[in-house]
Amino acid sequence: MKIPFLDMSIIHRDIKNEIMSSLERVYDSNSFILGKELDSFEKEFAKYCGVKHCIGVGNGLDALVLILKSYDIGEGDEIIVPSNTYIATALAVSIVGATPIFVEPDEKTFNIDINKIESKITKYTKAIIVVHLYGQPCDMFPIIKLSKKYNIKIIEDNAQSQGASYNGVRTGALGDAAGTSFYPTKNLGALGDGGAITTNDDGLARKAKILRNYGSNKKYYNEFKGINSRLDEVQASLLRVKLTYLNKWNIERDLIAENYIKNITNKKIVLPHKNSNIKHVWHQFVIKTDYRDELQRHLDSNNIETMIHYPIPIHMQKAYVEFFEFCGKLPIAESLSNEILSLPIYPGLTKEAQKHIIDIINNFDI
Ligand SMILES: *Cc1c(COP(=O)(O)O)cnc(C)c1O
Repeated sequence: MKIPFLDMSIIHRDIKNEIMSSLERVYDSNSFILGKELDSFEKEFAKYCGVKHCIGVGNGLDALVLILKSYDIGEGDEIIVPSNTYIATALAVSIVGATPIFVEPDEKTFNIDINKIESKITKYTKAIIVVHLYGQPCDMFPIIKLSKKYNIKIIEDNAQSQGASYNGVRTGALGDAAGTSFYPTKNLGALGDGGAITTNDDGLARKAKILRNYGSNKKYYNEFKGINSRLDEVQASLLRVKLTYLNKWNIERDLIAENYIKNITNKKIVLPHKNSNIKHVWHQFVIKTDYRDELQRHLDSNNIETMIHYPIPIHMQKAYVEFFEFCGKLPIAESLSNEILSLPIYPGLTKEAQKHIIDIINNFDI
């Protein structure tokens, strides 16, 4: 049995007819940018997240950049970001000219450690970007408290957590504004690039909507120096179809996670920790072990593909040479990158495949 890390062909086969008719609808409409499909998707996704506004954009990175720009964040400003995340979170901050300030993760949840945020707040801090990493919402109440105390914005990076919730409130509705990504492999993925901003902030929504379209609200009249980053009609139309399946797919992920948690019993493996007041959507199922490379080889030699999210922390990336000084000072992000391993988890992963993965992990020894 060969088990790929991710196989989208299963869900894509199931919904092929619906997707094809949505594509045909767009084809026949001959309207491809800022049309009816986007309007409808924005309304539907806003409703799904429980917010007033959704603005469809080109990708998840642009969603974060447009939020920062709309809040006039730039040079001289500091933005708190987790040290353990995908590089896009920090890049968005760098792109607008602000400085990312890294905060270490909680070793159990992998999310930003809420006890280490306050000491990093200075008079230059304008916002904190929280990432609901691997599909688990951050512990938001303490963060909301800090944001009120210091008057700083909360921006959610919702790229890995579409459909998750914290105390019954969906991610994307937990801060001042949220950016999400519809990169094909996300829980809600397009057939190409895509992203969105969700928010209850009327002012931010208005500005971001203008900024994504060259800073123009009325054709050839430009109010701001904007960019070109729009979710196109083709992607919006098929995302409308996929959105109706998102809850079902997330439940399937949850069942697989439950099965792994119940049946992986190897003492060398630390299973992911799930907080009690949240709904996790398992974008990734990430285990920890001191023998990560050996385990990955063991799985690989049994035809089970795994991945590492992420193998090199941001401050150790060549692109961020200015942060090399932090090496050794962000020990948790650094040690996690050597211990973590992501197992296959996706709708359509069969019971037999899950059992095979569990058995091969349980018989791992060194
Ligand atoms: C995927 C991802 C992004 C960026 O999304 P793109 O659409 O690829 O630009 C941002 N943040 C996190 C945490 C992600 O996983």
